[in-house]
Amino acid sequence: MPDSEIRAVVERNGVLWVGTPRGLVEFDQHQSKSPTAASVPYQKQALYHSQNSALPGSYIMSLAFDDTDKLWIGTGRGASYLLEKTITTLDFSAQEQAQHVFGFFHEPGYVWMATDRGIVRYRQADGHQALVGRPQGLPIDKFFQIVKGDDQSFWLSSNRGIWRINYDHAHQVADKTRTRIDFEHYDQSDGMLNSQANGGSNPAATKTSRGDIIFATAKGVTSVNPTRLSQLLSHLLPIVMQTVRFDSKDMNPETTGKAPAGTNRILFSYAALGYTMPEQIQYRTQLEGFESDWAYRPENHTAEYTNLPPGDYTFKVSARYPYSDWSDNVLSYHFSVMPSLWQRADVRALGFLLAVLTAYGAFMWRIRHMKKKAIQLETLVEEKTQALQAQADDFERMSKEDALTGLANRRAFDEYWHQVFEESRQSGTDLQVAILDIDHFKRINDHYSHLVGDQIIQRVGSLLLREQTHLRHIARWGGEEFTLLLAGTPADGYRYFDGLRRRIAALDLNDIAPSLSITVSIGVASNHQASDYVDGLKKADQALYRAKRDGRNCVRQSNDTA
Ligand code: GH3
Ligand code: MG
Ligand code: MG
Repeated sequence: MPDSEIRAVVERNGVLWVGTPRGLVEFDQHQSKSPTAASVPYQKQALYHSQNSALPGSYIMSLAFDDTDKLWIGTGRGASYLLEKTITTLDFSAQEQAQHVFGFFHEPGYVWMATDRGIVRYRQADGHQALVGRPQGLPIDKFFQIVKGDDQSFWLSSNRGIWRINYDHAHQVADKTRTRIDFEHYDQSDGMLNSQANGGSNPAATKTSRGDIIFATAKGVTSVNPTRLSQLLSHLLPIVMQTVRFDSKDMNPETTGKAPAGTNRILFSYAALGYTMPEQIQYRTQLEGFESDWAYRPENHTAEYTNLPPGDYTFKVSARYPYSDWSDNVLSYHFSVMPSLWQRADVRALGFLLAVLTAYGAFMWRIRHMKKKAIQLETLVEEKTQALQAQADDFERMSKEDALTGLANRRAFDEYWHQVFEESRQSGTDLQVAILDIDHFKRINDHYSHLVGDQIIQRVGSLLLREQTHLRHIARWGGEEFTLLLAGTPADGYRYFDGLRRRIAALDLNDIAPSLSITVSIGVASNHQASDYVDGLKKADQALYRAKRDGRNCVRQSNDTA
């Protein structure tokens, strides 16, 4: 032996191949002529190393025969194969400059190599090489051994745990029909005593007839049964609710719960009952009535909710192992959060109703109040209108009435005389218009007093009022002058006005002043003599002037014709 450290041993057809750090040694059994061959030691035939052969390196790391009788030789500087005494070395320059070749796996048509740059596939048909390594999605570079499991997976060992990749996917990545490779990773948390698998000596991993994959590690042997693992991962994980807590109060997780109004914190803690790799169990939760989707809580055993509004809820939790589907086994816990008094629908409805009624009441009260106000206002307006009307009537009356005697005044007379004059002209009626003037009135005023003068004017006015039945109209025309209208001929006029003159002269005025008496002069004109009503008055005034001239206390009639 060139070295006492043995890295790999393979045998075929009685030839034994031993890999050492200083080359590959060939032993042959057939050279021995002994009848009991089994007891005959192997005879060293040849030593291959980088100096005397085509081997890329002398440090032999792995050896394997494939089904085409190639002896695959992994060295510290690449891989070669020996076929019919010829060594062929692979060019790894396209495989990320892989150097160390730690292990081989062969299958019909292909040889797979575990290297320090991922795994390299060699195609027997044309010698084509392809890499499945870090560029294709593997998280580390260095792999020691490749074993194909009954689960159609490649199991790869490394100094950082064990990796499972899909066998078909590995081929597809090597064929460039798939760009990336997925992986699963197992280490101490999955049950290995040490996550460092051995790669130094071969075989460092193998598959048993039972289907177990055996790995040599830095601390004991790790075995995986892929079929059992799949069963485990697909097994339904039973879940239990450990705690349901409403604020600080622990509830019975077996029955539905009622959180009192105002509950602030609601906490759940739960656990899936998986006894293999329990740390790996992942959880997801959903609070129906609050969340529309699942919330992922990879390794979290608790879920907490604060300030949930009142309502009915269902808390759901399910669990799984990594690389498996979420189990249909969902644990549900029903509970409700009670509403506060003011949050209750019936109380709210009542409140709303009350508000509406109050608003309606206020509205109706306001309407009634406004109606009352309107009626008051209407009454007031009516009162004011009536008062104004009365005032207007007073003004109207006053404007046509003489204050001292209560008779019509000059304006009223003029209006009336104008109207009646026109009417009489149409109908041909006879009218006599007269002006009556108190004689020497200035003297009375001077002799007695102005007050006595007023009283006399009033007394004449009262007498004339008593004559109303005979006359069409009576007015105080101004001062101590009165105008009178009589229906009738000039003869009727004379008769009547002269009688009137005498009745005035006979007035007893002793109550006003002792032995006082008055006389009047009257001028009369007929409507037929006048061209218009103004002319009528003018003619009566001329007749009055004549009465005065003729000595007063008499009646004179206008002789002029229009
Ligand atoms: P005659 O008509 O007879 O010619 O004499 P007379 O004194 O009446 O003369 P005249 O008609 O010119 O004077 C009228 C007077 O009447 C003048 C005025 O002082 C007086 N008089 C006019 N109106 C009033 C009145 O309302 N009250 C009083 N007390 N006197 C009045
Ligand atoms: Mg006069
Ligand atoms: Mg006079």
